[in-house]
Amino acid sequence: MSKPAKNPLSILKQVYGYDRFRGKQEEIINHMIDGGSSFVLMPTGSGKSLCYQIPALCRDGVGIIVSPLIALMQDQITALEQLGIAAGAINSGMPPGEVFRVKQKLEKNQLDLLYVAPERLVMPEFLDLLDGVNIALFAIDEAHCVSQWGHDFRPDYKALSLLAERFKQIPRIALTATADRATRKDIVERLELEKGRTFIDGFDRPNIHYSIVERNNPKKQVHDFITHNHPKDSGIIYCISRKKVEDMADWLQEKGFNALPYHAGLHAEVRNQNQNRFLREESIIIVATIAFGMGIDKPDVRYVTHMNIPKSIESYYQETGRAGRDGLPSNAYMIYGMDDAAMQRNWIENSEAPELQKRIEHQKLNALLGLCEAAICRRQILLEYFDDTADPCGNCDTCETKPETFNGTIPAQMALSAVFRTGQRFGMVYVVDVLIGKVDDRIIRFGHDQQSTFGIGKELTKLEWQNIFRQLVSRNLLMVDVNEHNGIKITEKGFSFLKEKDSIHFRKLSKRQKTGKPRVPRKSKIELGNNLDQSLYEDLRDARQQMAKKRRVPAYVIFHDKTLVELAKIRPQSFEEMLEINGIGEAKLKKFGQTLLDVILTA
Ligand code: ADP
Ligand code: ZN
Repeated sequence: MSKPAKNPLSILKQVYGYDRFRGKQEEIINHMIDGGSSFVLMPTGSGKSLCYQIPALCRDGVGIIVSPLIALMQDQITALEQLGIAAGAINSGMPPGEVFRVKQKLEKNQLDLLYVAPERLVMPEFLDLLDGVNIALFAIDEAHCVSQWGHDFRPDYKALSLLAERFKQIPRIALTATADRATRKDIVERLELEKGRTFIDGFDRPNIHYSIVERNNPKKQVHDFITHNHPKDSGIIYCISRKKVEDMADWLQEKGFNALPYHAGLHAEVRNQNQNRFLREESIIIVATIAFGMGIDKPDVRYVTHMNIPKSIESYYQETGRAGRDGLPSNAYMIYGMDDAAMQRNWIENSEAPELQKRIEHQKLNALLGLCEAAICRRQILLEYFDDTADPCGNCDTCETKPETFNGTIPAQMALSAVFRTGQRFGMVYVVDVLIGKVDDRIIRFGHDQQSTFGIGKELTKLEWQNIFRQLVSRNLLMVDVNEHNGIKITEKGFSFLKEKDSIHFRKLSKRQKTGKPRVPRKSKIELGNNLDQSLYEDLRDARQQMAKKRRVPAYVIFHDKTLVELAKIRPQSFEEMLEINGIGEAKLKKFGQTLLDVILTA
């Protein structure tokens, strides 16, 4: 594209149609334009892409964006083309002829942005090609993939350290939405960004409501959650295994929902088809393993549900961050149980990773379990994990109904000693039965009815004991050994708790939990406001749908809901007035302005 304005703010306005920068965007963009390098940690949906796109447009030459997301590159490029930006991609999924054409454009300096997969970028032949090209900057997206401490290490990313050596003069920007302190340090070292600046910003996602409850009837809990809050919305449901994904998707289909499965075991064609339907159609639920979601920038995902716990707070934050990128109210709803934790621990133990890394992964899991069992604001815990701070938010389950706690020192001692006396090899159900003094064949056969711990816990119910055991596991005083038929063992920390006679507080079961009723989080209503003309809004949506169909792109690539809401409220009467609307820049005005204006003027 011809580069009319080289001023970042005019580009923001003319190309993207936005009025002002958000958070640290402007600071980062200016730093890049001046030739500095940077590491950027900002949450999903906060606007990281502009931090490299605008400097690439302002500086001479092409911006090279390294991204692992081959399947989404084409969509990204189509979206950029709607803005009038000349973008191309090169990856292994493309036919050779197409690659050749993009390379030609690159050599002729006709591209503003080029997306490449990491394995392609570091090929000697490609690096040679780049030597002859004018490069504005390198952007390394999903930069946590470079670190072994991160949760999504990709060997291909390791080689990217050569950029610093080979292209010394060219600014580099590494971006991620997810990295704890160790991962950050690792990224900066590996990509040699020590001389650059680090920008960490805006971790809070205030429009997302967090809610985490114990799992008792998984399908029903999730079904109730969806029918109550999001009967017609797009959402993502994460499950721990392929089998669970299939099972849940089938079940939801039987219930009449548009639910599609997504996991690495599906044929690539089916996977892409399901992903595309999710991106292009309305009210689709995607039921997926963690294989789904990286780079998905659908702005109107209204909820993310976890049916099993993820492996760390970083994963949780990244996955839930896929909800509500448009800033409208959204839900993150998780149901969890201790068998998830056991399964995750088992995976860690059986992996090939070095001991140190296993220890780190166990700690990450502990932090996540701490979040699940927390009695304080979820958002505070999340933000503190990323070294940010916040007051209690009022928009999470623990803020809305503060869980009561109780001094559980004596029950904890009882539980640990019952585990010890039964030989640290029985499951939770059995040990609880011993504690409440249940007369049962197995217990009699093993002679556990003769022991001092038999029946010492009569005062509490089975449910209350389970609550205590879960919290003992989540605080790492007990562990579930998956290799030994889920037998419960006392950890080092558990033994020291007994020896030191420490005290401990637990979360009380709420009334709802006692009766087994699922807690249903607050409805997330989209406030469309009073002066919105609903029928005009629907007409605009229809028009958008037709324009999207014609171009074979998702509706949100044409305009976000937010832009349509503004149009229906303000009813601009001319092109000039339309440019004042958020999300309408010059290219989009030219392409779609007349159609929208016709809709407004004839309504
Ligand atoms: P990230 O890459 O951080 O997940 P994106 O770059 O995809 O986020 O941005 C999320 C959404 O916010 C996009 O639709 C983008 O166009 C929009 N956006 C980014 N910056 C601004 C801004 N300054 N004003 C308004 N909207 C913005
Ligand atoms: Zn809160």
